[in-house]
Amino acid sequence: MKKRIPGLFLGLMMSVSILSGCDNQAGTPAPSTSAVQPASAPVEQTAPAEKTPKYVFLFIGDGMSHVQVNAAQVYTGNNKSGEVAMKNLNFTKFPVAGVATTYDSTSFCPDSASTATSISCGVKTHSGVIGLNVDKTTKPQSITEKLKAAGMKIGIVSSVTINHATPAAFYAHIASRNDYYEIAEQLANSNFDYFGGGAISEPTGKDKTKPDVTETIKSKGYKVVNTKNDILALNSSSGKVYAVNPVLQDSGSIPYAIDTKADDLTLSDYVKKGIDVLDNEKGFFMMCESGKIDWACHANDALSTITDTLAFEKAIQVAVDFADKHPDDTLILVTGDHETGGMTIGYAATGYNTAFDILGRQKMSYIAFDSLITDMKKNNPKLTLNDVLPVIKENFGLLAPSDPDAKIEANKAYTLTDYEFEKLESGFAESMKPTDKRTKNPETDLLYSTYDPLSVTLTHIINNKAGIGWTSYAHTGTPVPVYAMGVGAEQFGGSYDNTDIFKKLISVCGL
Ligand SMILES: [Zn+2]
Repeated sequence: MKKRIPGLFLGLMMSVSILSGCDNQAGTPAPSTSAVQPASAPVEQTAPAEKTPKYVFLFIGDGMSHVQVNAAQVYTGNNKSGEVAMKNLNFTKFPVAGVATTYDSTSFCPDSASTATSISCGVKTHSGVIGLNVDKTTKPQSITEKLKAAGMKIGIVSSVTINHATPAAFYAHIASRNDYYEIAEQLANSNFDYFGGGAISEPTGKDKTKPDVTETIKSKGYKVVNTKNDILALNSSSGKVYAVNPVLQDSGSIPYAIDTKADDLTLSDYVKKGIDVLDNEKGFFMMCESGKIDWACHANDALSTITDTLAFEKAIQVAVDFADKHPDDTLILVTGDHETGGMTIGYAATGYNTAFDILGRQKMSYIAFDSLITDMKKNNPKLTLNDVLPVIKENFGLLAPSDPDAKIEANKAYTLTDYEFEKLESGFAESMKPTDKRTKNPETDLLYSTYDPLSVTLTHIINNKAGIGWTSYAHTGTPVPVYAMGVGAEQFGGSYDNTDIFKKLISVCGL
């Protein structure tokens, strides 16, 4: 994009006219309505680099902190118990790494609405609030709005619903992340150039009585496509686009990577297509969220988290390949918005040992397993654990103590202990009750939270056997890593707050 304006950072007088085409609040880290800072105002920005990036990729792994990244490295590196080897992911090899704190104005365990707002707008706000200051009323201008005003095209990609909190923070300003309909209306009015990935949550409103917001999006000039052929045919002359994944899983999201079929579109395809659609002389900014790293961590399903992190790595590779062709014009950032699940490598019962290869015996996500069991329950209301054990063996690789294969020494690691089998019996008994008849007490809250008692018991058992622990079904206060490569990457080293990611972007982009 345009040339940087070093004078701003030196505190020199600078005519606003020079800033025409971009935003007048440039160089002012705090939300402000004044157009020009006094010449003597202290400026906190670090010294700018010489060049500004024409292409900016911001990858956000929802719920992805150090341990989610590290778990993917261990899983791909160490596939045998007792062998310690770790494989780097493409972004862990980026030349610059930093660490960002994630607390918001109401919690040290923040949510995606407030943390994505900190990244997109540079402000702290309440959990649940999108794109508004802490007063829940005034609107800071987001990085995407500033860059759009400066002439860049804007793309927003997410593996979860496109009006979910993280993507919404880059195009909407609203007091509640749950107002999905209004968020989608703001999407329609954003005039941003490319939306891709999941469907729209509550397209006809909470009570399903409003006109379909997809029509509003179309009426604002968007081409809405949802077949593989139509999506793959998109290009730089397609105009404004919303590409919806043809295959949708829980709540309208792209399926977990572990459940994806060979010819399904993936997050990588949406990044590739984003580049095709957004390509133009003035450059582009693309935010790509991998949202189900978070969802799998909420459910304490380690392998689904790991495989979605590896799918995220593939999506990032698309940007890395693009950067290889445009090395002097591209900045790539990879970060998380917060940690989810209190995931640990190391578990109380396994001490200093891990055996991540055990995870490889899991064949589907917890949510796919839930629907498998739901179908079995429908077909046989008197389903017993004995009926289900072969399905558990098939899809989690776990053997009941009574299974003939449990006698084979090599299968010892995959055989349930008596203690684990008792947990499984309890989880199955709870799972067979109608949802509103399930036991509700502090112990079952800790054991199952709101998840299906059978599948969450199974993920806990297989994770614990592998040496992975969980402390929460919610978010935690662990800081997140920030990896950077390309133009201006050096500004992202060190330890800082998530609001600084916005401020550094402003600086790097010369706004
Ligand atoms: Zn979450």
